[in-house]
Amino acid sequence: MKQHAQWETSLFELIRRTSVDLPPDVEQGLRRALAAEKRGSRGRWVLETILENVQKARENDAPLCQDTGSLVFHFHVPAGFDTNALSAVARVAVARATRLGYLRQNTIDSVSGEAYETNVAHGAPQFYFEQCARSTVDVRLIMKGGGSENVGRQYSLPDGRLQAGRDLDGVRRCVLDAIAEARGNGCAPGILGVCIGGDRASGYEHSKAQFLRRLDDKSEVKVLARLEDRILRDSRLLEIGPMGLGGSATLMGVKIGALSRLPASFFVTVSYMCWALRRRGALISVNGGLKRWLY
Ligand code: SF4
Repeated sequence: MKQHAQWETSLFELIRRTSVDLPPDVEQGLRRALAAEKRGSRGRWVLETILENVQKARENDAPLCQDTGSLVFHFHVPAGFDTNALSAVARVAVARATRLGYLRQNTIDSVSGEAYETNVAHGAPQFYFEQCARSTVDVRLIMKGGGSENVGRQYSLPDGRLQAGRDLDGVRRCVLDAIAEARGNGCAPGILGVCIGGDRASGYEHSKAQFLRRLDDKSEVKVLARLEDRILRDSRLLEIGPMGLGGSATLMGVKIGALSRLPASFFVTVSYMCWALRRRGALISVNGGLKRWLY
């Protein structure tokens, strides 16, 4: 990859924008949640404060939340594209964004407890590459905060405690349990990414990939689209509300995907994303020039 500098500029701008400016669909989701809360309620106050902070972050070119999270890049590249060079330049862009304060020093050596200065370390940032028949690079970035990561859950069906069998009603029971268990943690109103099936590792991967979907996106599988709507409706009845302080705006969205599974296993994996769903994407030419934003 010859145009190293151009690539670094584009990927740095992707990181900066993801850190300081919430995608329009998520900001609209927060406004819808605000409209649903009663005047004078604590939930309404929380959402007003969040929306003020979103505005200030954009104006001040500063991170939306002090936890700038784990960085997860998803690349779709033309066949034969040099993905080693692409991940190397992305690491350089991450280090620069950290030096300039768009990312907190947020990466810890799990054995020594020491912080890495640049957020570049084994497993950080994370990369997913897919080669396909295309002439440009599609890159999407998600920054996932630790508080919401901590409340993700995985279930193995059947589950006697939840009376959840190996069917879609069993899935619904698991997801509602995950919402109830998260309660005030994870910075509600959140967005759920759910995977039905897969194994323990692919279940989490696929559930997190659901966060790439826009909030107004519906599953193309009709029964899953209905389940997404049903769980969103049911979540309102739990009265958990923004930051767990009560109210109907517990979730802004539910996104469900499915993978095949083994006969012996039926996993339901629920990943939780906080209100700060920092998700941005761009189409970039093979020489590194930014063509257009995707979110
Ligand atoms: S869970 Fe999200 S909103 Fe809450 S502190 Fe972490 S990144 Fe920030």
